[in-house]
Amino acid sequence: MAADVVLAVDVGGTQTRAALVDREGHVMHRQSVRTPADEGADAVVSAIAQSCRSILSEAGITTAIPLGLCAPGPLDAKRGIALSTPTIRGFTNFPLRQALSDALGVPVTIENDGPCAALGEWMCGAGRGTENFVYVTISTGIGGGVVSDGHLMRGRLGLAGHVGHMPLKTESSAICFCGKPGCWEAEASGSALQKKALVAGFTGLPDVFARAEGREPKALSFVAAASDDIALGVVAIIHLFSPERVVIGGGVSNGFNVLGPLIRERVDARVLPPFRGTEIVRAGLGDDSGLIGAAQLVLHPHTAA
Ligand SMILES: [Zn+2]
Repeated sequence: MAADVVLAVDVGGTQTRAALVDREGHVMHRQSVRTPADEGADAVVSAIAQSCRSILSEAGITTAIPLGLCAPGPLDAKRGIALSTPTIRGFTNFPLRQALSDALGVPVTIENDGPCAALGEWMCGAGRGTENFVYVTISTGIGGGVVSDGHLMRGRLGLAGHVGHMPLKTESSAICFCGKPGCWEAEASGSALQKKALVAGFTGLPDVFARAEGREPKALSFVAAASDDIALGVVAIIHLFSPERVVIGGGVSNGFNVLGPLIRERVDARVLPPFRGTEIVRAGLGDDSGLIGAAQLVLHPHTAA
């Protein structure tokens, strides 16, 4: 069993999820704990280690099995260093891989959350069977990962796929988390759309999506405008990477029933003719793309490399 099942951890700014995951992406003995993001890197490492020990004991596993982990970047995955994660105190030039390996006595592989979720979707979810595909997560921010010619793209410092900071406008009242105006994330992330929904008099994005499903005109026009903002980034991605499929995950994908057809329509109206018809689909693994991808880092190291 141990050879085909590994520990997987998805560290988020508020929640850390851990589980045993196999090659097919089955998630077992799942646990979720609060990320002690304000208490420093050692506290985060200790919370992860505790969760992993408890999973192993619950599963009756006494042998050392490797661990794959993803966390908000930027991380230097090759050197195993958290470079400067803004949402976790102490994740600044922190040797995360070594600290975890010391705490648990097992080999550890780490990766930025966007590429890791892309890997999960590519191996076990909506990206299966493609050689070129891009995963985009639209939630608090916009992140992503790129599979190009059958390889997960890493880029300098392993930072490829930070699609949320593609500048779509030079002037905009929407200021990004990075401090600059007009990033895709500032215009079309879940937080940006939520803010616009509240200003427009909705109780939030779920309210917009529910009313749009009921064909309410005001909600439909909100969804149309949101689709325009999302489509602009997807158009850029398609021209850059020529993917067979763009997979959209994250909280905003809960509205994919109403958003999806409009995004496709707008993308097709804007891309160069040979790019028309590029598949744009909803993520297949829901909230587990990162967790399952973290396991695949270890289970399919050659594909992930
Ligand atoms: Zn930005």
